[in-house]
Amino acid sequence: MKKAAFIGLGNMGMPMAINILNKGFDVYGINKGNEKEDRFQKAGGTTGITPAEAAGQMDVVMTCLPKPEHVEEMMLGENGVITNASQGLLVIDFSTVSAELHEKIEAEAAQKGVDYLDAPVSGGTTGAEAGTLAVMVGGSEQAFEKAGPIFEAVGKNITYAGSIGKGTKVKLINQFMVGMHTAAVSEGLTMAEKAGVDLEMLHSVITNSMGQSKIYDRHYTEFLHDNKEEPGFALELLLKDLGLAKEMSDRVGISPRAGREVLSLFEGADREGFGKKDMSSLFYYVKNNEK
Ligand code: NAD
Repeated sequence: MKKAAFIGLGNMGMPMAINILNKGFDVYGINKGNEKEDRFQKAGGTTGITPAEAAGQMDVVMTCLPKPEHVEEMMLGENGVITNASQGLLVIDFSTVSAELHEKIEAEAAQKGVDYLDAPVSGGTTGAEAGTLAVMVGGSEQAFEKAGPIFEAVGKNITYAGSIGKGTKVKLINQFMVGMHTAAVSEGLTMAEKAGVDLEMLHSVITNSMGQSKIYDRHYTEFLHDNKEEPGFALELLLKDLGLAKEMSDRVGISPRAGREVLSLFEGADREGFGKKDMSSLFYYVKNNEK
């Protein structure tokens, strides 16, 4: 299994594809427009192939695309990967979408003798660059074994979560908590500023206290400290994940109250134009709305 295609060379996909390339795979990169494909070529990758061609010629095709509608079209559309796949192909989706979409894609894949895995990741762009992502995988155990060298190229903590969609269920719970922590950081830092508490001192104290979180550390040291708003992880993508987590909670018959409040905070921030900024910019939305 050496011929690979990677579709979606974005903030996550580009470093992941480069890490797979550096592990000796022959990687074809596919992205909308030329700019990212050119960057991938400069990093040593190959371009100039369509998803349908990749589906017929590669051993493995991977995707890392923004939203469920992109993944559905890329997999099941007329020019899509599953639609044009040869028997024996392995397909791995690293995007964060819904478990139900993965079940639908897997059913089509099975008809064609194609192995399909949902393998959402966590660890952000720094984890993607370092090849230390957490990968949570759903699908058959045999496909999981086959995909081992790919997962080892992009991640460190690789977990087989169970049948198709299970990786995504784990990921959506993670994202639900990322949203809650981001809201806590945004409101906590707003309170600190209003109370005249120095943010640098606060970070240093909380780093050794129980209120610390990976999210506070990421948001403060990588973004808020330097007023950096370029994503990272776009706020609109976290809003998408919180919407998917809400659908998941509806489906299992629960109604998390704090979660509802957090979702509405993110909806407000998106309406006020923060969607394309890093998720940590929820802080600026919260602060502006306290005036
Ligand atoms: P991104 O927007 O930076 O990258 C997506 C890429 O896909 C873009 O380059 C875009 O041009 C490309 N694309 C879109 N439609 C396409 C199509 N039809 N054909 C080819 N290319 C297409 O997004 P990202 O931050 O890399 O996130 C990708 C996925 O990974 C999302 O589902 C996100 O929720 C998830 N994720 C992101 C992070 C993060 O920190 N950024 C972390 C974990 C998971």
